[in-house]
Amino acid sequence: MLDNRPQLPPEIARRRTFAIISHPDAGKTTLTEKFLLFGGAIQMAGQVRAKGEARRTRSDYMKMEQERGISVSASAMSFDFGAYRFNLVDTPGHSDFSEDTYRTLTAVDAAIMVIDGAKGVESQTRKLFEVCRLRDLPILTFCNKMDRESRDTFEIIDEIQENLAIDVAPASWPIGMGRDFLGCYDLLHDRLELMDRADRNRVAETVQIAGLDDPKLAEHIPAGQLAQLREEIEMARELLPAFDRKAFLEGHMTPIWFGSAINSFGVRELMAGIGEFGPEPQPQTAAERQIAPEETPVTGFVFKVQANMDPKHRDRVAFVRLASGHFERGMKLLHVRSKKPMAVSNPVLFLAADRELAEEAWAGDIIGIPNHGQLRIGDALTEGEGLRFTGIPSFAPELLQTVRAGDPMKAKHLEKALMQFAEEGAAKVFKPMIGSGFIVGVVGALQFEVLASRIEQEYGLPVRFEPSQFTSARWVSGEREAVDRFAATNKQHMATDHDGDTVYLTRLQWDIDRVVRDHPELKLTATKEMM
Ligand code: GDP
Repeated sequence: MLDNRPQLPPEIARRRTFAIISHPDAGKTTLTEKFLLFGGAIQMAGQVRAKGEARRTRSDYMKMEQERGISVSASAMSFDFGAYRFNLVDTPGHSDFSEDTYRTLTAVDAAIMVIDGAKGVESQTRKLFEVCRLRDLPILTFCNKMDRESRDTFEIIDEIQENLAIDVAPASWPIGMGRDFLGCYDLLHDRLELMDRADRNRVAETVQIAGLDDPKLAEHIPAGQLAQLREEIEMARELLPAFDRKAFLEGHMTPIWFGSAINSFGVRELMAGIGEFGPEPQPQTAAERQIAPEETPVTGFVFKVQANMDPKHRDRVAFVRLASGHFERGMKLLHVRSKKPMAVSNPVLFLAADRELAEEAWAGDIIGIPNHGQLRIGDALTEGEGLRFTGIPSFAPELLQTVRAGDPMKAKHLEKALMQFAEEGAAKVFKPMIGSGFIVGVVGALQFEVLASRIEQEYGLPVRFEPSQFTSARWVSGEREAVDRFAATNKQHMATDHDGDTVYLTRLQWDIDRVVRDHPELKLTATKEMM
């Protein structure tokens, strides 16, 4: 992946842009908090959560997120660690929000997979892992909650290898577990890391060791545990592959660290690993060509749009991954889709939990651009070149429901709310040619509930979702005249999406097959390119 790439300018080379993937409850929030703590972005652990809660009280959908233990809001956080600048892009955790998650993963160069030491690889971890694999993303693994009774270390590693078909190279080795967990032996640097149980925010004590025969070990580890550690490490070195950076960068091998996020243990070692071994900003693919991060002109693409981040303003923030160049505030960039110039005068960098004006940013960084809806997912920004970034997936809406405003007089408001969510990429919205109401298409059932509570909270509109008479949607493309002719004779099946494009709705696969057969002049697709 990195081989035979030219050396990057130092500001770009020091960037590490990554996401955390995990099953709910494995410890992603806690780990994020400790990252920010060690990144100097917050003074005290607990701030992220406290901030999060203040924000959550603002809306029910956030409340729902709390009750269900899922995280729906996503953002990007930047902080420094040693010589490195980390950009952590938050992924929404629940499987029902996979669209968002998939897109988020198009903006990062690596992922950290957090697993619970007692539970191993859980369903959501596996799904997210598969997405990373599609993109050959390098993955670093953090096995969390080692202060609790967890599984045998070999068993955990075996499970990852078998379940995810990836080689696992231990970067650290746990000493004991549960109540007897003392810390880890750092296999990459021959160091002993000892956990401080008394103070959860204290960083572990580090003891440099000259190999497993060093008598210093006995000063810190009781004889029984030491014998076991020696035996296990000997076995590990024999049975498990040694860390190979190339295999890791190619996505075939994951280094694993063991730790306890809540006790701040193992976190710094993991961060050091991201810095030392993690990939630099990688080239991005556009339909026209590959974009290398070191190219001078600034380019970037929108991978996420978030509306109503501040309920006082109806603003939207488009999250842009910079693919190349050195961005400076006030720059005029070309919005490729509309072919219009756009002065980016108030971009935001997400430093820890607060937004801050970004004076400059480099390839690899994520900047937020407040806008009124011009910027959409998949859009490219350049210094003039007509690029179209590829790789941002679009998903076929698999579940359709009709939505109505509780108060019929408010239909216009409902339309506005729905259009906004459609632009955010939170749902597909179809306006049928005949009849009133809208049909909303999503990938996971929980999205209906999230939408209903967001519409109520953000627009003060109670709404009802009801079963729709349709179960499938197909975008219809072809010569304008042919599409119009088809629509005119199939009115009861026709709708338009938020861009005004024509959609065919039905409940029978048979209908779709028939249209495909009888109308060779038309093309029916289950997804629409997000351009
Ligand atoms: P998320 O759903 O993945 O974001 O998980 P959280 O970070 O919210 O953690 C889930 C629960 O596990 C919380 O109650 C945490 O306090 C707890 N937790 C997180 N890390 C550890 C750990 O290292 N040890 C123990 N015992 N509990 C932890």
